[in-house]
Amino acid sequence: METMQKEEKGKVWLAGAGPGDAALLTLKTAELMESADVVVYDALISAEILSRIPEDKQVIYVGKHAGNHPVPQEEINRILVREAKKGKQVLRLKGGDPFVFGRGGEELEILLQEDIPFEVVPGVTSAAAVPAYAGIPVTHRDYASSFHVITGHARKGGKVELDFPALVRVKGTLVFLMGLSSMERILNGLTEAGMDPDMPAAVLENGTSAGQRRVTATVGTLKEASDRAGISPPAIILVGRVCGLSGQMHWAEDRVLGGRQFLITRPRQSSSSLAGRLRALGAQVIEMPAIRTEPICPNEKLKKALEVFGTNTGQEWLVFTSPVGVDIFFSQLMELGTDIRKLSARGADVGIAAIGPGTASALERRGLVPDLMPEVYSAAALGKELAQAAAEGSRITVARAEKGSEELLPPLLAAGLKVEDIPLYRTLYETHPFLQEKIREMLENGEIDAVTFTSASTVRGFTGVIKDVDYGKIRAVCIGEQTAAEAEKHGMQVRVADRASMDAMTKKVVELFGKEMQR
Ligand code: SAH
Repeated sequence: METMQKEEKGKVWLAGAGPGDAALLTLKTAELMESADVVVYDALISAEILSRIPEDKQVIYVGKHAGNHPVPQEEINRILVREAKKGKQVLRLKGGDPFVFGRGGEELEILLQEDIPFEVVPGVTSAAAVPAYAGIPVTHRDYASSFHVITGHARKGGKVELDFPALVRVKGTLVFLMGLSSMERILNGLTEAGMDPDMPAAVLENGTSAGQRRVTATVGTLKEASDRAGISPPAIILVGRVCGLSGQMHWAEDRVLGGRQFLITRPRQSSSSLAGRLRALGAQVIEMPAIRTEPICPNEKLKKALEVFGTNTGQEWLVFTSPVGVDIFFSQLMELGTDIRKLSARGADVGIAAIGPGTASALERRGLVPDLMPEVYSAAALGKELAQAAAEGSRITVARAEKGSEELLPPLLAAGLKVEDIPLYRTLYETHPFLQEKIREMLENGEIDAVTFTSASTVRGFTGVIKDVDYGKIRAVCIGEQTAAEAEKHGMQVRVADRASMDAMTKKVVELFGKEMQR
């Protein structure tokens, strides 16, 4: 955010990222992810959320590394102070709410000591959201008039220092965080203090994410049921009569794409409308910015082509093969101090062709209705149909990527048309290294149901950065045949949408992974 004043000293925002589902980020935290210079995050932050961090950010991970110990709190404090003192806007991103067992208070003490300005951004705490996604209201007029959030974290020596008689006496819903490894001691403590062993209880794993799991039992049987299901952290333990309601009130996993997680590869600059559609159906969606387009600027070849455009004695055709190509073409026109009227005012009959509906709507947004769009949205079909439609002697100006498809020009040349191939932009492949690592791990663990590809270049971008995984295990949903061919080269299990549109992609994903609505 350019409007945000850079304070000389830097500043720290201690912000909650919610329990996992990116839709539960607060607006303020989402804005800070855009505006901060440095993001310091720990283990509970989901890939879906991390994938929203723009790539110009410095990103520091302070969570556990596989099998290793977490970064000590003193080290985290040092990092926050160091970055703020460089004058940076530091976003300290924590799971859930920063003050609910987040050690947020300790971090603020250090900032106070060092006289570093800060703000606190509350987050949606797992203590309330995880039960909600499991269909458990933590309070209910008939069953519980209070709820209590308790740490189940054992002190050194494995002792859980809790006042069990008090917890039993309040008769509210008990929510234990960090309690998985002390579950037995907690449940025994409650029954020894007089709680009915038949009291409903639940353990909720990975709540709000696609992988969320719920085990409901009683205080007497929960430990065994949880072990049998192989529940692992992060998980919360819930005790109280409300736990019995999840049998009827569960909902999250029942959505058409509930429990599914997809990886969407896309150009860095455009946010994906596919992601929104899949999320609306209940899926968790990681958006991996696989490619970035860089305009070729200054563009001498374009300048020359525009100087003579419209002077051809036959027709002049202008051909676009991607929405980003349309965007760059028009910003270059402005750059060159001209606009579309001047190009069509030179006498020639001007036609415009678009490869598919995405490109067509980019043109329509500028008040231009394409004269030609092929039946099948591919470069080969575009070339063939344009070769038929263009009058003899036409000049075809193709405004597209530097390494465009090789199938577009041959039919045009074969028809004896004059062809100008103008490279407008080049494609760079990139993804944040921390995200690459996380995605690789999730693919290995089978946590991603499918990867979607909307162009051959996104396949190249993906395979360029996600290496050392068995591509044969990846289910790829592709927008068209060219994209599919590229994915097949790497041995992926390929499925192709019926048409090259986001609607058709969504339909294909639902067909392959969706469930019938149960209610
Ligand atoms: N500040 C966080 C809690 C940090 S303590 C918050 O407000 O949510 C970490 C504990 O939170 C974990 O041990 C687990 O008990 C719980 N937790 C966090 N996210 C969770 C999730 N998605 N599903 C289940 N439990 C979660």
